[in-house]
Amino acid sequence: MSTYNAEFRGLANYYALAHDAKQKLNKLQYIWQGSLLRTLADKHKTSVKKQHQRLRHDGDMVVKYRVGNEERTRQVFNLKYLKDLRKAWDQVDLLPNTFVYSSGTELRKRYNAQQCEYCGKQQGYFEVHHVRKLSDIKDGKEAWQKLMIARRRKTLVLCVECHDQLHAGKLPSWKRSNREMESAIR
Ligand SMILES: [Zn+2]
Repeated sequence: MSTYNAEFRGLANYYALAHDAKQKLNKLQYIWQGSLLRTLADKHKTSVKKQHQRLRHDGDMVVKYRVGNEERTRQVFNLKYLKDLRKAWDQVDLLPNTFVYSSGTELRKRYNAQQCEYCGKQQGYFEVHHVRKLSDIKDGKEAWQKLMIARRRKTLVLCVECHDQLHAGKLPSWKRSNREMESAIR
């Protein structure tokens, strides 16, 4: 999934301003998504239609998976997420108002801010880190755990790098950037 996203995003960025980009990239996206669904269907020994139903949420495609107790989500890259394309194409139907994450508008807003709530990074790809219960992490020593406790939130919008580091147990406290975080930890 990460490879799929990275490759398609890179390609779309590269060709975004080419002649006929919108039409061609949309066609390419259709083919790529089909390929992805066939791969998943094959892997899970089910149909393309079932995979499509499983991934589809409010007009987006989202893969949900568990790592231990935590639910992680990863979106299948879609051309409508590219800000430059949205600007260039000026398409009403490309506005990001159908965004996933069923946990409500507050999280949706935070996600749409496209900024890592840990390191402050504003570019790249973002994911939501979930914990099931705050009590599970209340005695945690990690900076991200203290941040979640201080904010009383079970979710944290993270850049992919921070999220991967978090799950590897290697998210360094020096990466934390925002003021809310600084005051939460002191
Ligand atoms: Zn980050």
